[in-house]
Amino acid sequence: MEYLKLDDSIKSSKNILIISHLNPDGDTLGSMLALRDLIYLNYKKKPEMMVISKIPKMYEFMDGLKDAKHLSKFDNSMVYDLVILVDVAALDRICDAKVFFEKAKIKAVIDHHKTNNYSSDIRFVESEASSTGEVLFRLAEDNNWKFNEKIAEALYAAILTDTGGFRHDNTSAVSLKIASKLVEFGAKPQWIYKNCYEMKSKNFVMFQAHCLNKAKFIDNDKIAYIIVYKKDIEKYESEDDLTEGLVEKLKIMDSTEVAFLLKEIDNKTFKVSMRSKNIDVSEVTSVFNGGGHKFAAGCVIKGSSESCAEKLIAEIKKQGL
Ligand code: AMP
Ligand code: MN
Ligand code: MN
Repeated sequence: MEYLKLDDSIKSSKNILIISHLNPDGDTLGSMLALRDLIYLNYKKKPEMMVISKIPKMYEFMDGLKDAKHLSKFDNSMVYDLVILVDVAALDRICDAKVFFEKAKIKAVIDHHKTNNYSSDIRFVESEASSTGEVLFRLAEDNNWKFNEKIAEALYAAILTDTGGFRHDNTSAVSLKIASKLVEFGAKPQWIYKNCYEMKSKNFVMFQAHCLNKAKFIDNDKIAYIIVYKKDIEKYESEDDLTEGLVEKLKIMDSTEVAFLLKEIDNKTFKVSMRSKNIDVSEVTSVFNGGGHKFAAGCVIKGSSESCAEKLIAEIKKQGL
């Protein structure tokens, strides 16, 4: 049984590292923190937590995350007994932290991306799960691990954010049952929701209004997209992740089949966030070495903004739009 293998590995490991993905979201951060605390509570071992990029302000309410260290603060020569990746769809999502995973005596992965295909010694990848938080909850139950309020809060935040507030198609009877159990363990739904979604700065709202004004609509408004430039993000400076939830705002239009956001990371390099109501957009992003889920996927693409948009639109149309 895979869960017993993880139990054995934790028992035999002196040092454990948990790694979350680039541009962290609530699922990777909540799962990382919950796993760290579960291992501490149940085995009296304190794994280290690694982030690849800055933790967005909206997740700072999970105060245990202040123990997470940036990749640059880790000693490259260190070999961990056990390295666990959480919510990491592909190894390039952990950038240079790959070396820690590759050198680890035991490699483990907990994830729910159907495009996850890298190898590891211990694997919990359930593509029908709403979130990595859900996979981790089942794993914890199978191991009879004890819970506390902080763990429940982190797992609830993971499931809440990856289901878009229990709205997306990954919201199942199972995910709601787990959420209910987490509330019994002490998670406070209204407080967690408020921290995640109702603590934005004025600049956040104004920036999103500015972006929505620039949205482009094609094919009878079936495809909608927004291009966000670095200079705009800098102009509206905010501690919030200014584009958080922006692509979903294009999806609320009844005509929208596919919505995407092109966010400039560097001159001629864009991060793509794509959402869909029917077609499988992970097939689109896979063409550009990305991945994700059927209705929510992403990749990084190079070129001028308009040529990137054109390439994406051509692939979307190949999927049957
Ligand atoms: P996002 O648009 O960043 O919220 O991502 C939507 C989904 O696509 C998430 O499940 C991500 O894990 C996945 N995803 C985003 N970017 C990439 C990428 N470069 N490679 C693989 N999967 C990605
Ligand atoms: Mn994620
Ligand atoms: Mn996830």
